[in-house]
Amino acid sequence: MEADCSRIINGLEVYCSNQRCQWRGDLRDISTHLNKGKRDGECQYEEAKCRYEECQVRNERRYLDYHEHDECSHRLFRCQYCWKDGTYLSITMGHYNDCADYPIHCPNNCTLNTMPRHVLSAHISHQCPLEPVDCVFRWAGCNDKPLRKDVHVHTADTKHVTLLAVACGQLKKEKKQIKKENSKIKEESTKLRIENQKRELEMTKQVETLKEENSQLKHYQAIP
Ligand SMILES: [Zn+2]
Ligand SMILES: [Zn+2]
Ligand SMILES: [Zn+2]
Ligand SMILES: [Zn+2]
Ligand SMILES: [Zn+2]
Repeated sequence: MEADCSRIINGLEVYCSNQRCQWRGDLRDISTHLNKGKRDGECQYEEAKCRYEECQVRNERRYLDYHEHDECSHRLFRCQYCWKDGTYLSITMGHYNDCADYPIHCPNNCTLNTMPRHVLSAHISHQCPLEPVDCVFRWAGCNDKPLRKDVHVHTADTKHVTLLAVACGQLKKEKKQIKKENSKIKEESTKLRIENQKRELEMTKQVETLKEENSQLKHYQAIP
């Protein structure tokens, strides 16, 4: 009797508890239809949580596909420049700041084009027309920093003639100084050489005297 009752009840035709859902079916099938508390299930009007563990977004299942695919900040995401994998949040908020292939503009705005981040330092130090560079006459005292594109015009500036004249004068003075120092060194080495020769001569004389004394001594010893 009881079994009959439950068969009758379970066989009752019911509507889905989510009002906008068009589902109608046996009472025994409604829990499968709703699959409460689970992300996946037949009823698209049942509220569920985003499938990514760290995301707390809840919505009707029919909206979750779009959220998980295009919106969720915890969705799987690949850097489109270097193909590194991560979540949307980790790639766009963290990785983009140091991705070597991320496209950036030259800080001098020399072009509208972008370049991969790893190319920038070579661009700045060898190519960028808007980068200030040292004047070729820096050694002569020009501290101007013309833009790389203007270097030739700057180099031709007549002010360098004055600078070069001063620098030449300085060099001449230094040359004279060096010459003076050189002749001093020569003088001193000649002095040293002469002294050495004197000393050698004295030594030879001493040796000669000693030799003579020796042979005289031998002579005396020979006489018994
Ligand atoms: Zn339903
Ligand atoms: Zn989410
Ligand atoms: Zn990257
Ligand atoms: Zn540039
Ligand atoms: Zn210069």
